[in-house]
Amino acid sequence: MIRFYDSYSKRKKVFKPVEEDYVKIYTCGPTVYWHQHIGNLRAYIFSDTLKRVILYAGHKVRHVINVTDVGHLTEDDFGEDKVEKRAKEEKKTVQEITNFYFSRFKNDLKKLKVIEPDFWLYATEHIREQIELIKKLEEKGYTYITGDGVYFDTSKFKYYGKLSNKKTGELIGGKRIKIGEKKNITDFALWKFSKPEEKRQQEWESPWGRGFPGWHIECSAMAIEYLGKRIDIHTGGEDHIHIHHENEIAQSEAALGVHPWVNFWMHVGFLLKEKEKMSKSKGRILTLSEVEKLGFSAMDFRFLNFLTHYRKQLHWSIEAIENAKTSLLRIKKIIENIKDDGRINREYLKEFEERIYDDLDMPGAVAVLWKLLRDEKANGKIKTIEKMDSVFGLGLLEKENIKIPDEVLELAKKRSELRKQKKWLEADEIREKIASLGWKIDDVGFDWKLEKLHKP
Ligand SMILES: [Zn+2]
Repeated sequence: MIRFYDSYSKRKKVFKPVEEDYVKIYTCGPTVYWHQHIGNLRAYIFSDTLKRVILYAGHKVRHVINVTDVGHLTEDDFGEDKVEKRAKEEKKTVQEITNFYFSRFKNDLKKLKVIEPDFWLYATEHIREQIELIKKLEEKGYTYITGDGVYFDTSKFKYYGKLSNKKTGELIGGKRIKIGEKKNITDFALWKFSKPEEKRQQEWESPWGRGFPGWHIECSAMAIEYLGKRIDIHTGGEDHIHIHHENEIAQSEAALGVHPWVNFWMHVGFLLKEKEKMSKSKGRILTLSEVEKLGFSAMDFRFLNFLTHYRKQLHWSIEAIENAKTSLLRIKKIIENIKDDGRINREYLKEFEERIYDDLDMPGAVAVLWKLLRDEKANGKIKTIEKMDSVFGLGLLEKENIKIPDEVLELAKKRSELRKQKKWLEADEIREKIASLGWKIDDVGFDWKLEKLHKP
C-alpha cells in the first residue's frame, strides 16, 4: 500500500491511480531566463524519486514538465517579463536565452540521473491551447477585462484558497502587492496586453488584443491537453502553494467543471543556506557546477537530498554535503567487496518498500540500506541493492570509470620495468611520485593496479 501526503487535503492518503494504464504526473518546471540553483534542482530530484517509486511499484508513468519561456513577470501580474528582460540585458534574442538556460538545466538533470519526462512542454508552443482555455473561462463568466489584461475573478470560484488556507482577497503574509485595476487582490492575469510603447520579442494576437499569456495559464492548459481532465499527481516547490497552484486549480476546475482536478498535490520544501531560502532575488544562489567546483559530485548532492525528508527544509552547508560524500563513498566501498550470490533478500526489500511507500521516506530507506550493508549474516545483498538503487538512482553498483592520466600510466610502466630489474629503491621513488599525483599503485606480480586516491 502506497501512501502520499496530499497538500490539498493536508493528510496522507492511499495512492491509487486514476486510470489503469498509467499514472499521470505534472511537474512545474523552470523559467528559463537564468541558471537553476541547487534549491530549484531539489524539486526535480524529488519528482524523479517520486516517479521512480511509482515505477518500482509496477505502474507505468506519463510525466510532463513545462518550460516557461514567456509571461513570468517580475512582480506577479506586473513588471517586466523575466525572459524578455534578460534578452534585452544580454542583447540576445529570447530564443537564444531560453535555449541556453534550458540546455544548461537539462545538463544538470542528466548529471543528477533525473529520468527525463515524457514531455518537455514550452509555453510559447501552446499559445492556442491557452487562448482556448481563457475563452472557456470567459464563456463561463469567470473573467473580466481591465486596461492591461484579462483577469480571473477569484471571488467567483468557490474553492479558491483551499490549498493554501487563505480567503479570496486576503494578503499573502502581509506582503504589499500591486493591485492595479484588479477587483480582488487574489485575482490574476490570464492574458496581458502588450503595452503600446513597448516592443516585445514575443507577442500574439488574441480575441482580446495583442499580447501574451499570464504565467499560470500555461500549466493548466498544457496539463489538460497532455494528461486529461483528471491528474494523479501535481508537484512543485512549497513556494507554489500560495499563488501559482491556487490559481492553477481555479483555472482548471472552473473550466473543466471537475473537482478535484488533481488527486495529490505534492510539494517539496525549500533548500536553506544559512537559514534563508536560496533565491536569485536574494543573491544567495549556488549552481550544480559551483558545487562540483567545490569538490563534490552531482551524486553527492543527490544523496544529500535523501538525508532529509522532502517535505522538510533542507539545510545546505559544506559540512552537510561533506558528510553525504563520505557516507556515499563508504557505501560504495563496502559494496565493492560484496560477492553477488544471485539471490534477493526479501526481508530487507520489504523493509525498504515500507519506507519508500510511506510518503517517500528516503532517510528511512537509506537507513535500511545501511542496516543491510552492516548485517554480516544477510544474503542476497547485491541483487537487493540493485533493486533499491532503481529508486535511489545513485549508480551504487557502477564501477567508477576514471581515466588514468597518461603521465601516471607512463610512470607505472617505468616502475614495472625497474621492478623487473630489481631496482627497488628507484621503483619506490616512482611510487611516491605517483602518489603525489593522486594515485595509489598496487602490485600484482609484475603487473599493477592503479586506484584514484580520494582526498580526505
Ligand atoms: Zn505550474
